[in-house]
Amino acid sequence: MSYRKDLAALVETKKDDFTKISDAVWEFAESRFQEFRSFALQADYMEEQGFRVKRGLAQVETAFLAEHGQGKPVIAFLGEYDALSGLSQEADVTYHKPIEPGKDGHGCGHNLLGAASLAATVALKDYMEQNNLPGTIRYYGCPAEENAGGKAFLVRDGVFDDCDIALTWHPASVNAVTETGSLANFRVFYTFHGTSSHAAGAPHLGRSALDAVEIMNVGVNYMREHMIDQARIHYAVINTGGTAPNVVQSEAQVLYAIRAPKVTQVIDLHRRVDNCAKGAALITETKVDIKHVAAYSDYIANDVISEKIGENMDAFLPIGYTEEEIEYARKFQEVITDLDKENLQQMAKKLAGKEAKEILKTPLYDWRIEGLGPSKGSTDVGDVSWVVPTGQFSAVTLAAGTPGHAWQVVAQGKGPVAHKGMLFAAKVLAATGYQFLTDLDLVAKAREAWLEDLDGETYPNALPKDAKPEIW
Ligand SMILES: [Zn+2]
Repeated sequence: MSYRKDLAALVETKKDDFTKISDAVWEFAESRFQEFRSFALQADYMEEQGFRVKRGLAQVETAFLAEHGQGKPVIAFLGEYDALSGLSQEADVTYHKPIEPGKDGHGCGHNLLGAASLAATVALKDYMEQNNLPGTIRYYGCPAEENAGGKAFLVRDGVFDDCDIALTWHPASVNAVTETGSLANFRVFYTFHGTSSHAAGAPHLGRSALDAVEIMNVGVNYMREHMIDQARIHYAVINTGGTAPNVVQSEAQVLYAIRAPKVTQVIDLHRRVDNCAKGAALITETKVDIKHVAAYSDYIANDVISEKIGENMDAFLPIGYTEEEIEYARKFQEVITDLDKENLQQMAKKLAGKEAKEILKTPLYDWRIEGLGPSKGSTDVGDVSWVVPTGQFSAVTLAAGTPGHAWQVVAQGKGPVAHKGMLFAAKVLAATGYQFLTDLDLVAKAREAWLEDLDGETYPNALPKDAKPEIW
């Protein structure tokens, strides 16, 4: 179909711009709410391209939207550009080698994510202008996907309220439509305040905040036996109260991540974890402050949008790799752990048939994989999917078996495979956006399916009213 060819050509025409943007964001490596340079680069570029740009959304300085056109439908492309803390890593190196130890790095490929969504919006705008197409398209620069659920703040503020369709993707080691939900996920700080004393001389005068953290964790670990199988609860002790065992710790803090398939289930688990904290405070005669800082809702996949994404992925596949690119990926695959290799074997077994052999033979999966099942991760795209019918997919930018949120992702983030995957994703997004932009019946169908999936429920807006987008 000619629109696909034309849109692909438009992506290719400006591919140097998009690649440069992705690589620059990789270099900036700015984590949540600090994406000042990444945001400015993208916002400036969109202005240069003739978009109406609004900088700063929902009190988040590093969020923006770039808009073109007028009237209905409104098609939204979602982009991200935040890095992960502590994942600094040199590019194209197959061993762990931080550029600067302790600094941040793009361990989730969001440099590519944002650049491809931006590229799709630019290509579709160029196509709309050439063909006098009505309707509105927008690129949303969404900060702080990692560890903050930035989009939940944007959704809470109504930034997506007039959108008809939202589209996005994620860098990965498979090409696949995201046909099932992701886990809802809350982040909650529990800070205990006790009384310090000499641990040998006057232990009876002390009340240990560290004891409270430990007792709380024991409580939650017992709770695991009595929660739904799909729930996931993990914690990190942020503050142990010091390094001196002979001083009773007066302050201690633990950060919890609480996940389950539905946000309503997480709301209930959160209540129970709070009770463990309150119980620990009672036992230890300490006080606890509870601060809920982030809430990711579960993702509601939309069959109508997923089907169109699948068609477009098939139309643009295979990506086509050179021998050098396959070799590049193979080198990265060689350094994954035995457990990651085992995971690959499991995936091959699950998919079975002809694919199974291919999966173990090649490090680059140049076809679309179906039937991978639900994701165990979380994404703030989930929040958008509660207020706008949303579609997303994964595209290959990594060697098969590459673990997530790891230095290997950073190392491959501006290599040839990553760039090709990014351009492929841009084409799929642009073509899918075009299909909805020009077919109001299709938009209505997606909306119908979405209402059916919601089954009368509305966005639970799980963020506490006083939660602000902030670095914690
Ligand atoms: Zn990510």
